[in-house]
Amino acid sequence: MMLQESISLTALNTFGFESVAEFYTSVSSESELVEAVAFAKQNHMKWLPLGGGSNILVPEQVKNALVIQMNIRARNVNVVGAKVEVTLGAGENWHDTVEWCVGQGFSGIETMALIPGQVGAAPVQNIGAYGTELKDVLVSVRAYDTQQGCFIELTNSECQFSYRDSLFKRFPGRYLITSVSLCLSSSADVSKTHYRGLDQYFQDQGNESPDLRDVFDAVCSVRRSKLPDPQEIGNAGSFFKNPMVSTEQFHSLKKSWPQIVAYPENGQVKLAAGWLIDQCGWKGHVEGSVGVYSRQALVLINHGGGSLDELMRLADNIKNSVYKTFAVKLEIEPQLFV
Ligand code: FAD
Ligand code: NAP
Repeated sequence: MMLQESISLTALNTFGFESVAEFYTSVSSESELVEAVAFAKQNHMKWLPLGGGSNILVPEQVKNALVIQMNIRARNVNVVGAKVEVTLGAGENWHDTVEWCVGQGFSGIETMALIPGQVGAAPVQNIGAYGTELKDVLVSVRAYDTQQGCFIELTNSECQFSYRDSLFKRFPGRYLITSVSLCLSSSADVSKTHYRGLDQYFQDQGNESPDLRDVFDAVCSVRRSKLPDPQEIGNAGSFFKNPMVSTEQFHSLKKSWPQIVAYPENGQVKLAAGWLIDQCGWKGHVEGSVGVYSRQALVLINHGGGSLDELMRLADNIKNSVYKTFAVKLEIEPQLFV
């Protein structure tokens, strides 16, 4: 294990916030990971696993902690009839993995193209896009249980996945994910999805029966047209989760707001947080160095030189105004990196 001190995290978080880690190491094997955690434990500091930094909120100083960049690479494939089990190291890039699977004719994750970050972080928030979630294809997760001091295999149900949530989010730092196994289809059949943006794309193309590559290309194109590229504008994707409300609360909201954007989900109703924020007039709002993206109100951005404090003040103002208007509480999606 190579320990480094006073390492800048500015290029390692997609918000681009200036930040310095007191201690940092990059691990490319399970044995290096065990060594890193032992070092942190011996020195009475926390350990913070870091992937692509696309879902974290970093303070200016990350102190009393060892930042562990998860760099374990691997890609193993086992074809069984019409199914294929793909096992991936935590340090594999998620989008490259999706593109590679599409190239191989393996379907199941094509609507999750262009989600930034690494494979190891994907189970943490049960990543999802266009109606597919990681939990729909995940077989198991291999992780180092830092409490028990051993490697464990967690099945899909043991990961306790729910909407943008999992066991790993609820116990931050306990489980360090080293690999993820997915079950995909080797027959290249595509997932059925009916999101307006994608439907519109296929309609414009006159494509009535898109294949695997068409779905991948559509997702990439639609996302590029409405989401800011973190290389150009600092952001962490959706800043708030879509809130779930009861059917009763939804009906009462609908009376006052007939245009409200909402979708029934598991006996509750999911409200589009972006719509709520937009109705409160925040879309395109600029506050110092931070703001709300002009094409998608759910995305908060760093125009350059912004700080976490500044962003959190803006987020609080947005949460308060949405609560005042709709009596709906918004929850922040990215993880505080402390
Ligand atoms: P990081 O930000 O590095 O880490 C996230 C959390 O996971 C942290 O708490 C970290 O400590 C922990 N972690 C990281 N690696 C490990 C590991 N190996 N073991 C245990 N814990 C670990 N998300 C979606 O769900 N759907 C989307 O469509 C989507 N679109 C996005 C678009 C943009 C432009 C951006 C910037 C973000 C988007 N996101 C989306 C959010 C983000 O990309 C995902 O949550 C992604 O999985 C985060 O991966 P990462 O490697 O960057 O994780
Ligand atoms: P969109 O298509 O404009 O839809 C707005 C919201 O309505 C989405 O959040 C989506 O919920 C919901 N929605 C739309 N059509 C739906 C349907 N047919 N069934 C159920 N829910 C529906 O969203 P977008 O901003 O362009 O994003 C497209 C997809 O990429 C979404 O799935 C979104 O979650 C994902 N994405 C996620 C992030 C992130 O950081 N988490 C960032 C960018 C994009 P869901 O979010 O539950 O799908």
